[in-house]
Amino acid sequence: MLSSSSRPRLHPLSPPRTGAASPLQAVCEGCTRIISDRFLLRVNDASWHEHCLQCAACQRPLSATCYCRDTKLYCKSDYQQTVNTLCVPGRKE
Ligand SMILES: [Zn+2]
Ligand SMILES: [Zn+2]
Repeated sequence: MLSSSSRPRLHPLSPPRTGAASPLQAVCEGCTRIISDRFLLRVNDASWHEHCLQCAACQRPLSATCYCRDTKLYCKSDYQQTVNTLCVPGRKE
């Protein structure tokens, strides 16, 4: 069973340098648009707008911790619900 949790990391985008080749532009996984904000969120190898990073189930913003499943991101409670519906629930803490 593949399960992973990851913490989104806020990365400042370096300002474009004049005269240099066009910098690598990050594309948001959520809206597939180029991220031109001052900050982007990195989750695993994907980049997100701050406002695009939200739970696929409840649409709440995911700023502290998010859980990946089937390329979708969930908050902790929704992720656990997804897991619990697919396999035997584990012991609750
Ligand atoms: Zn976006
Ligand atoms: Zn949720």
